[in-house]
Amino acid sequence: MRTFPLRIGTPDGLLYEGEVERVICRTMTGDLAVLAGHCNFCTALGMGEAAVVLEDGTRKKAACIGGMLSMMDGVCRLLATTWEWEEDIDVARAKAAQKRAEEKLSASGLSEKEYRMVEAKLHRALVRIGVKG
Ligand code: ATP
Repeated sequence: MRTFPLRIGTPDGLLYEGEVERVICRTMTGDLAVLAGHCNFCTALGMGEAAVVLEDGTRKKAACIGGMLSMMDGVCRLLATTWEWEEDIDVARAKAAQKRAEEKLSASGLSEKEYRMVEAKLHRALVRIGVKG
């Protein structure tokens, strides 16, 4: 299968650079798979499970929490707000974050903004748990 160059970065630095067969991620409007030869394209990323299929067919899963993806002249650049490979996800931490968020959401007194922030925190925790699951 044809490959294309991919770079994955976060504000903390470059996390991956190499040839891949496929990138799959959640965008703001639905799931996206990028293959070699994809037209020039740019999209905002949502929160969800992502995956990279390497040249040898290995599929590496990750939790991707927002960002941007572009495919420009055959080169794919993915800049994520946070990106954790499956093996780097701390499930106990995500479960603790889930519990804290659920407790806050069930208590009254949150402003609309606080509610949305806690909801987003719960969503992040559930994505991380889902990737490990
Ligand atoms: P927490 O309350 O546990 O910090 P959070 O959703 O608020 O969770 P973020 O603000 O999304 O955390 O992330 C802060 C940093 O911690 C990022 O670098 C992110 O990759 C990392 N991180 C957050 N949760 C986990 C986890 N469960 N396992 C590994 N890394 C994590």
